[in-house]
Amino acid sequence: MHLDSSAHDGPTAPDGTPWWELTIVPGTRAKPFGQERRLAAWLWFNKEIGDTFTMNELREALGQDIVGKSEHLNRRLRTLRAVGWVVPSHNDDGSLKPGEYRVEVKGARYWLDEDRRAHRRFAPSARVRRLVIDRDGGRCAICGIANGESYPGEPSSKARLTIGHRVPQERLRARGATDDIDNWRTECARCNEPVRDEIPDPRQYDEVLAQVRRLSRSNKRTLLNWLQRGERTRSELDRVYDHARILTHGEKEDLITYLQNSSASSS
Ligand SMILES: [Zn+2]
Repeated sequence: MHLDSSAHDGPTAPDGTPWWELTIVPGTRAKPFGQERRLAAWLWFNKEIGDTFTMNELREALGQDIVGKSEHLNRRLRTLRAVGWVVPSHNDDGSLKPGEYRVEVKGARYWLDEDRRAHRRFAPSARVRRLVIDRDGGRCAICGIANGESYPGEPSSKARLTIGHRVPQERLRARGATDDIDNWRTECARCNEPVRDEIPDPRQYDEVLAQVRRLSRSNKRTLLNWLQRGERTRSELDRVYDHARILTHGEKEDLITYLQNSSASSS
């Protein structure tokens, strides 16, 4: 049986079994249903973006064999990470406890043949990922945050960079086009989430509009440009700051002294 995505959007296989409980591929006699597939399906349908999960939780849901030891789980998570999943462990993120993981981006629906194949074809290599993030100056093209920085007003948050498509891959695929590096851009895990389809809140719009009204004419122009492009460009000043912030502590001190002197002399 071909498990295509449009016909099998829900949490259960054609025979009504949840995907994560399958042991053999539906319609076959004994072809094992891979453990990565079960893991992906369980996470997809049981966890929201931002939720954490533990080894014990997985053992209970999927059985000992799938995550008997942490290296088993890590191997399976590596497979999922290669098809777009962002699932940090406590090694990646100090706010997580040992044995705890967080779902930050849901990648390919690995249990569905079509999605798995498509992602294999379109998944960027580590080299492409590095090139794209370097090209974009190590910042999310949408909100401008750098890896490890905290989001405004949330000092304990920590941004993680991934790469995403400018033109959605479904559309590329429909055109029969191949993916190239220009179609990738750096995105933080938060901006990479699918756009929320919410009911518009008029109060929120009014608030934003009031803030926009207070902007200078040139800031309004910049904002217009960002909204039209769907991403923010970085000014010369931003780029200088990007370079300055990675100087050594001593070099930064020197720079601060230079700026203090030069702003004193120019005023
Ligand atoms: Zn972002």
